[in-house]
Amino acid sequence: MDGAIIPPVIGSGCHGGRDTMIEAARAAGKSAAMDKLMQDYPRGPHDQPQSMCPAFGSLRVGLRMRRTATILSGSACCVYGLTFTSHFYGARRTVGYVPFNSETLVKGQLFEDIRDAVYETAKPADYDAVIVINLCVPTASGVPLDRLPKQIDGVRIIGIDVPGFGVPTHAEAKDVLTGAMLKYARTEAEQGPVARPRTQQDMPTVTMIGEFFPGDPPGVGALLAPMGMAVAPQLPSREWRDLYAALDCQVAAAAHPFYTATVREFKAAGRPVVGSAPVGLEGTAAWLDAIGAAANVAADKIDAAKARALPLIRAALDANPVHARITVSGYEGSELLVARLLIEAGAEVPYVGTACPRTEWSDADREWLVAHGAHVQYRASLEQDLAAMLDVRPDLAVGTTPLVQKAKELGIPALYFTNMVSARPLFGAAGAGALAGIVAAQIGSGGRFNRMVDFFQSVGAGETAGYGFNGVPKEPKGARERYRRAREAKSRANEAVGT
Ligand code: SF4
Repeated sequence: MDGAIIPPVIGSGCHGGRDTMIEAARAAGKSAAMDKLMQDYPRGPHDQPQSMCPAFGSLRVGLRMRRTATILSGSACCVYGLTFTSHFYGARRTVGYVPFNSETLVKGQLFEDIRDAVYETAKPADYDAVIVINLCVPTASGVPLDRLPKQIDGVRIIGIDVPGFGVPTHAEAKDVLTGAMLKYARTEAEQGPVARPRTQQDMPTVTMIGEFFPGDPPGVGALLAPMGMAVAPQLPSREWRDLYAALDCQVAAAAHPFYTATVREFKAAGRPVVGSAPVGLEGTAAWLDAIGAAANVAADKIDAAKARALPLIRAALDANPVHARITVSGYEGSELLVARLLIEAGAEVPYVGTACPRTEWSDADREWLVAHGAHVQYRASLEQDLAAMLDVRPDLAVGTTPLVQKAKELGIPALYFTNMVSARPLFGAAGAGALAGIVAAQIGSGGRFNRMVDFFQSVGAGETAGYGFNGVPKEPKGARERYRRAREAKSRANEAVGT
């Protein structure tokens, strides 16, 4: 048997038993892994996932890479949800899964099964890398992915722990895998020659860190061109060889500020890291200054870059003025950048909530927003976002699905952050025009929402939800006590696995 495996805890998972799970993981030999997660992703009010399973972030990064196989190790229900979500978002790749039961988990057979699956999958003709992701139960049980071989016939093997009780958001889970791959690639590059990128830049480059609208990186390239610089492949990357090109940059730009493990690798490679991003007029000017300074670009070239970009951004903002009060909340990591842009377009933004943690890479944005009257809430919980919306009563609420749902119930126009805002350019003149345009269109729908609220009144809400219900449901006599006893009996049995 490889590694110490201990049985999981009943009632564990997304919504219960977090401390017990952490304790179990530590007892099973995962103390170092848990310490690293706690250090990289400090916790806040919503220590448990309030949106999708965090592991989706890592899974998505793996599935979007060419010649990369991604294998999940976890409870079947978790894997079902993750697989469903990945295909909902158009993965078009196979999600690997190594199932387990009480016996294979407790006896350590699960690790053997994972190792077999990795050997079976790691064919150099098919793959550059095989990723194995431990979900909650295998992490808490100490399944030792660090004992997998580092490579098989030249195919890199990377095992990571991404438990919901250690990684608060799916955004940060993207960093767990990106950082692990970058560390592997940096070690390879330090040991000898590595593969060339498909397109080699002949200018010094900037690596943008974060998932962006596809038009944004080329747009950033146009901003950098007058300084004699270009963009490197962005991170998370689309294939393994891009990792080397990304590392080979002159400056790394932590535009999404929560990539702590990824930034650590750039620092280890001796690359300077710049925060914030080229959003709006002031944001773009400050970002070009910071990139130019980090790359030792001459002042006249930085001025030339600003002289080319800023008038276009000014014109885009003037063409799409936003006169409205807006709250912004989300879990993508770009919430502060979006709020900056909205304020520059003329909006009043009293509240910005992000599920991501505070890091030094968003300091400039936070300071700018606070100076412009916004309250910035890091690690914002859904409850905080809802309370802010109810307090502010905005003309438009930009937020997550449950927040938008609540806003619509109240007749407040609302916009999905992920589907609508993240699916548009954000940087430079293109970002200024696109964001202000969609926001202006939504604000005009306030009258329509109010008519809908009037029409439906309270039908389908609270106790009248569902067909045929129009009274307060009666609680069956003794039901609570029966369920309490049943739960206790189940807990005592302590044999089942997973949640
Ligand atoms: S892996 Fe953990 S956080 Fe994800 S769905 Fe399963 S129990 Fe929830």
